[in-house]
Amino acid sequence: MRLLILGGTGEARDLAARLVEAGVDVTSSLAGRVARPRLPVGAVRIGGFGGVEGLRGALDHFDAVVDATHPFARGISANAAAACARTGHPLLRLERPGWPADPAWSYVDTHDEAAALAADLGRRPFLTVGRQELARFVAPLAGHQALARVVDRPDLDLPETWTLLTSRGPYEIEGELALMREHGTDVLVTKDSGGTFTWPKMAAAAELGVGVVIVRRPAGPAEVASVNDVAEAVTWVLGMTEGPTS
Ligand code: NAP
Repeated sequence: MRLLILGGTGEARDLAARLVEAGVDVTSSLAGRVARPRLPVGAVRIGGFGGVEGLRGALDHFDAVVDATHPFARGISANAAAACARTGHPLLRLERPGWPADPAWSYVDTHDEAAALAADLGRRPFLTVGRQELARFVAPLAGHQALARVVDRPDLDLPETWTLLTSRGPYEIEGELALMREHGTDVLVTKDSGGTFTWPKMAAAAELGVGVVIVRRPAGPAEVASVNDVAEAVTWVLGMTEGPTS
């Protein structure tokens, strides 16, 4: 059984570790978005496949696929669904649940809406939407005292009023409280990433009475089997390695 994990998340690394331990031939694929990615155990490849056709060709080397990519990385999920539908490769989506909705949060569907709403709600927004989305916030928040936290420095001119902070989670509540107090954050902007790595900023916002603008997850491919946790994905993969019973 040669398994391709489409990765880039903590769940994907956890899955790779458990399956390598169980003796499965695992290759993890990373998009190559960050300069120094946390590498999973087992074989790793980095960079795009070249669309559906490229991924379809790469599947010649694999027997099954787990799509454990980030909840907002819908391009690669759509490509995986299309490629596997054509080749007949079994495909499982592993996606951590979003955070339980809080009535105090303002949900929006896009990062553009998040930027417009944040501009209205505060003067000192804390932007935690990732480097790839930051450009959408520059014009709406050009006059604001924004704090933008990203893993890698964006290739983008930021307003002089902004402060850029490069760091990588997981974070602790004490640090998040201190950061938001020091900056004077009056609105937090985030994706609905879910999980525990970045949850402390949400807890800190609640404790400080800071408003939250949260971007809803885009819908993924509807026809793909999906699980929420790593243990279920391990069961799915190991079920295939056992093969049919006679
Ligand atoms: P995307 O729109 O799903 O992917 C764009 C292209 O990147 C894909 O078509 C594929 O290129 C390549 N790609 C993505 N994930 C890959 C993987 N695991 N292995 C190999 N190639 C991969 O995702 P995105 O542009 O990276 O990000 C979209 C949103 O997700 C952003 O809001 C971003 O902040 C968020 N996000 C993404 C990641 C991540 O690891 N990708 C992590 C955290 C957050 P080809 O078509 O050439 O195969």
